[in-house]
Amino acid sequence: MLVERMRPHTSTIFAEMSALALRTGAINLGQGFPDTDGPPSLLADAAANIGSGINQYPPGVGAPELRAAVAEHQRRFYGMDVDPDAVLVTTGATEAIASAVLAFCEPGDEVVTFQPYYDSYAATIALAGAVLRPVPLRPNANANANPNPGGQRPPGFGFDSDELRAAFSSRTRLVLVNTPHNPTGAVFDREQLTLIGQLAAEYGAVIVTDEVYEHMVYDGREHVSMATLPGMAERTLTISAAGKTFSVTGWKIGWVHGPAELVAAVRAVKQFLTYVSGAPFQPAVAAALALPDSFYAQLASDLQRKRDLLSAGLRTAGFTVFDSAGTYFVVTDVRPLGYEDGAEFCWSLPERVGVAAVPVSVFCADPELGRPLVRFAFCKRDEVLTEAVARLVALRAPAG
Ligand code: GLN
Repeated sequence: MLVERMRPHTSTIFAEMSALALRTGAINLGQGFPDTDGPPSLLADAAANIGSGINQYPPGVGAPELRAAVAEHQRRFYGMDVDPDAVLVTTGATEAIASAVLAFCEPGDEVVTFQPYYDSYAATIALAGAVLRPVPLRPNANANANPNPGGQRPPGFGFDSDELRAAFSSRTRLVLVNTPHNPTGAVFDREQLTLIGQLAAEYGAVIVTDEVYEHMVYDGREHVSMATLPGMAERTLTISAAGKTFSVTGWKIGWVHGPAELVAAVRAVKQFLTYVSGAPFQPAVAAALALPDSFYAQLASDLQRKRDLLSAGLRTAGFTVFDSAGTYFVVTDVRPLGYEDGAEFCWSLPERVGVAAVPVSVFCADPELGRPLVRFAFCKRDEVLTEAVARLVALRAPAG
């Protein structure tokens, strides 16, 4: 029944693993969503908006106060000069990405992205009849080294510049960049983004950036937004959302901004996917974007502590743990625990020790690349992480 191009994408690992976690009563470190609420002012504002009748269709492009707040956020954090009229509000970042892919790709056009990738990318590219050109992200050397020898953390995932270059062709239409990166926790630096940008310019490709984890970068790192690099604003669509930043992943309020003609193309598709959504949430998110720096700093420092707690526990439990520089996630290698296949490991983990995680192979066009890797989410209360670690330590092979 289902069209052929969607057949490889019938279910999402997040739904499957969350259902398994529920069935087995496991702690769910699979799907990345926080288990605490966002800022009280945001929640109160949304409730008040519902109570005061902000419940009908918002403008197709989004509530004016949210478009202005996104522009101001981009100025405040990145020094960007964004016209509120160039901001389009979407149903989460996912809709913005899907709309962009559908807006720019003719069947057979190519989209360069990094693998492992967030699962909706591949499904959306397939829907458009476009072709995914994946560039591998591989763990750098030294994983599982002492996590902090003299302040030096072991590196996480990176790409090879020759492999990146080889992914481009005359059919490249889009480059889809996710930084901070789900699932690896990689945060692309200026040099990496500059190379991606140069290649996009050379091949005349539009760059679409998914920056939903922009406020979750650790150890003093900086989030670099592609559109701030010289010459890049004119070819870049910048996408983010409220879900992660304000711990409201179920609200699905996202946005995209960029050059007027590119945003207009995205809007042409977006208006026929959901038309609009989230009327009472949009003005509430607008107010939250103006929260003081202390809110944003606290978010990052809380998550950094959680990353450390879970990463240390996973090392104790015997996993190889790769450095997570950002996001909600840390990636591990399960081979030291005697497993070759992360998917097999994840399907049995809830029953065995009462913890759920997701296999990285499901985020790969080439499953071999992620075969022994498993992603854990650390966006959970400290006591939940501590309990998860206590359970995972039971996996450690008995001595002798
Ligand atoms: N973005 C979240 C993750 O990667 C959840 C996505 C989802 O449930 N579709 O875990």
